[in-house]
Amino acid sequence: MRVYLDHNATSPLAPAARRALDEAWSSAWGNPSSLHAEGRLARAALDQARTALASFASCSPTEVVFTSGATESINAAIRGAWARAGLRRRIVVGAIEHSAVLETARALAGCTVTEVPCDTNGVVDPARFLDALGDDVAVAALQAANSETGALQPAAAAASACRAQGIPFLCDAVQAAGRLPLEAYREASMLAVSSHKLGGPAGIGLLVVREGTELSPAITGGPQERRRRAGTESPALAAAFAAAALEPPPSNLASLRDGFESALRAIVPDVRIHAEGAPRLPNTSNFAIPGADGELVVIALDLEGISVSTGSACASGAVEPSHVIRAMGYDESEARRAVRVSLGAATTDADVERLLEVLARVAARLRASRAARG
Ligand code: PLP
Repeated sequence: MRVYLDHNATSPLAPAARRALDEAWSSAWGNPSSLHAEGRLARAALDQARTALASFASCSPTEVVFTSGATESINAAIRGAWARAGLRRRIVVGAIEHSAVLETARALAGCTVTEVPCDTNGVVDPARFLDALGDDVAVAALQAANSETGALQPAAAAASACRAQGIPFLCDAVQAAGRLPLEAYREASMLAVSSHKLGGPAGIGLLVVREGTELSPAITGGPQERRRRAGTESPALAAAFAAAALEPPPSNLASLRDGFESALRAIVPDVRIHAEGAPRLPNTSNFAIPGADGELVVIALDLEGISVSTGSACASGAVEPSHVIRAMGYDESEARRAVRVSLGAATTDADVERLLEVLARVAARLRASRAARG
């Protein structure tokens, strides 16, 4: 039996989502744009999912645009606002945004990207974010919670400030969705959510585009999604996404995570727990064990049946140290030691105990071999 503790990367399909998927593949397989009975059934399933997801995201159904996932939602938001920005040639983002935000902003020709730094707890300074705004800003973006550390960001305050100044604002709510209520981000003109991070299937996400937000469509073609995103929608994926979103968030994650961290500290007293001083998502723990490379920890745990991750991204075959841990002021070797454990709805006390037992052995072994090498 494997122990899966990498829910911030993706989550297994929730049973309710699987049932919705099975049901919709057989009953709502038609093209929702077709006029005949099969099309109408597909349209009804899609509309039902849209209504459920609108209430989940605290918006109206007409403000929900289905996409293939959050990366597409983010591209649609940033590129779509940029295309309408006229002489506004600057984009303001948090320095610890997901690469979907950072790389999209950096890729725009003629765009100056202002990256607002975070503190040692991995929280973007709200005053500095607000200071960075101005009448030359085409679009601003701040995530609700960080995927690596779980640190919550001042996205609601940033959304209000942008609204007051008429700046389109994107909140990447991928990691908060399904773990925290999204109502707090009502003032964001755009909100990105991904299905596979909350127990739905991969291949679908949504972008909330609030009434009055002007975007050029990033994908052109047919008139689907009220001309905001062309391409035939998938009612089955939408139904499963909605079913997963409607599941009540698990209530025991913070106590499991806090219990894990105090037990880890008892085993490895010099462990550093990143973002420990910040309000965090209840399911996420990011830590570094001195003398133990994060990648080696991940590989050793995998061999023992436990799935966790490093914050590092694999870019062209080379493992890059996490930009998030670096932005928090740590050096490259600390960033290379970072390990992320992210719990989910099915995580049990026994899973956490097994992780601690294996981690104690793995850490001792890696530290001993590091010490032997000098
Ligand atoms: N934003 C954040 C904060 C994420 O964690 C991720 C996925 O890792 C994404 C965006 C991209 O989501 P998707 O996999 O749906 O494209």
